[in-house]
Amino acid sequence: MDQKIIIAVDGYSSCGKSTIARALAKKLGYLYIDSGAMYRAVALYFLRNDVPFQVEERDLQAIEQALSQIHIEFRFNEAIGQQETFLNDENVEEEIRQMFVANHVSKVSTISEVRRFLVKQQQKKGEGKGIVMDGRDIGTVVFPQAELKLFMTADPVIRAERRLAELQGKGMNSTLEEVLHNLQERDRIDSTRADSPLKKADDAVVIDNTHLSPEEQFNLALNYAHQRISLNSNSAD
Ligand code: C5P
Repeated sequence: MDQKIIIAVDGYSSCGKSTIARALAKKLGYLYIDSGAMYRAVALYFLRNDVPFQVEERDLQAIEQALSQIHIEFRFNEAIGQQETFLNDENVEEEIRQMFVANHVSKVSTISEVRRFLVKQQQKKGEGKGIVMDGRDIGTVVFPQAELKLFMTADPVIRAERRLAELQGKGMNSTLEEVLHNLQERDRIDSTRADSPLKKADDAVVIDNTHLSPEEQFNLALNYAHQRISLNSNSAD
């Protein structure tokens, strides 16, 4: 019997982390968690409720108070075959992908109180193993013990083109410049923040998908997963 493992997928913005993580989870029968959606949901709540999160006006008491009002859940939507993000029982899956959330989420993610609040929930979801989680600090902070860690990267312009196509496909308006600027700015803030910066874990495998098709990336990742699962199962025998 195969032992279940934890798979951490980290990397830069718009590198296709969630596509690969979701596909791996589906193939392996694992739980998939999009940790970025949790940061986006918190950012949406802060924006809607005027919580003072910007560095100049940051109010930690108001932030703690707001966090105590936030409940984030993922619910599976049979019609689209994917899970969706719920903030206090409201489906916010579409809204958290909008540019106005993307433009603020990295600042919200620098706040240690927000990270502690979400990391605790993320670790709880991994208690039973059999999970694929994507984000920025999954292999370094959330699950440093993960049996497989993937670190995704790709050329920024290619990433921006892919993200723009995705947004347009969902009927959202944007430009290549705006999307490119947003993802470079998020990478900068995510990589330089003091708490849990985005960085490759020492034992992570890098996948640069600039020149890889979605199928090639998936096969590569699945191979790594099978190797790790059989290694883990053999050592448990
Ligand atoms: O993955 P996604 O691009 O949706 O993440 C949105 C933002 O959430 C990132 O730019 C980052 O600021 C933050 N994030 C994080 N740690 C994670 C996942 C996301 O700081 N584990």
